[in-house]
Amino acid sequence: SFLTDNLIAMETTPPEIKARLSANENPFGPSASAKEAIQKSIDKSYQYAFYEGREMSKKIADFEGLSSDNLLLSAGSSPILQAGAILYGKGTIVSSKPTYEDLLSTAESMGTKVLRLPLTSDYKFDLDAIEKAVDSNTSLVYICNPNNPTATIVDSNKLREFCKRVSKKTMIFVDEAYIDLVENPAETTMIPLIKEGYNIIITRTFSKLYGMAGMRFGYMIGQPATIKKFEQITPGSMSVANATWAAALVSYQDKPFMKMSYDGIQTSKKYLYDALKKEGYEYVPSDTNFLVFPVKEDSKKFVMNMMKYGVSVRSWEFNDKQWCRVSIGTLEEMKTFALALAKVS
Ligand code: PLP
Repeated sequence: SFLTDNLIAMETTPPEIKARLSANENPFGPSASAKEAIQKSIDKSYQYAFYEGREMSKKIADFEGLSSDNLLLSAGSSPILQAGAILYGKGTIVSSKPTYEDLLSTAESMGTKVLRLPLTSDYKFDLDAIEKAVDSNTSLVYICNPNNPTATIVDSNKLREFCKRVSKKTMIFVDEAYIDLVENPAETTMIPLIKEGYNIIITRTFSKLYGMAGMRFGYMIGQPATIKKFEQITPGSMSVANATWAAALVSYQDKPFMKMSYDGIQTSKKYLYDALKKEGYEYVPSDTNFLVFPVKEDSKKFVMNMMKYGVSVRSWEFNDKQWCRVSIGTLEEMKTFALALAKVS
């Protein structure tokens, strides 16, 4: 699971960690107004938050041109991924490798067969191969766009057409956790397909652009009948804390904050690209707030060496290569990363 993976990544963390770049968090958040709203909300913590969910749901629905019936709000998107594994694990699940494993590994632990197809040579989901693999046994297709860990997006038109065709045969789950960090989220999202009546599921989170991973807020978008199925097996809005509602309500579509967060990440990313080039590393260009680059030694060893300098990153192995995934932090953190990289290279 996400939690176990990260605990393992941090097991060897030295007491003084200088740059935590292993969990795709965003240090540019939460916004100042979110922090203020959290503090103000504390006195109300003895109350159940009965109304805030409705208010938030209306905000999202209004912005996206959806109805509240298309939404299920949750303490992060993880509970929805897990519910997806339970509800759609009766046949085979088709996805790619590597991708975000939460839904897939949950399904597998319940005995579901998961087909993980290789990525394309440019490290993207291979939609053609996935479409070919879908058959009458397929109960779900999981697409992570942008993909974690490769930070790549697929062509939006191609994914749209894929969803239109394949959703007639099976349910498609599009994990858009990192969508707010792409250059043009409105062009990249598959939300318009929900409005057109296609039977797909989309998940979103406040853990990334909004910098609220520790506050826990996310949501799913789907057809009302699908939302009902998920509501039956998840606590939904009832799992979200008062303080989290307060922060989410003031953060949602706060354009100046979103721009500051996005721009901060772009500046750090540019610095990271240059630092990698300087040390002779190639990298997969990133459409989000992390990236992968091939390392010259065993990737677990590389991660341990970086840890010695207080830098926490993650190791991966795919396409017969050893990789490091580094999350994009503050400029200060990227400088710490660059110094450590120069030492271990
Ligand atoms: N989906 C993807 C692709 C992720 O990388 C993550 C976390 O990193 C999640 C979902 C879970 O996010 P959360 O439960 O914080 O919304």
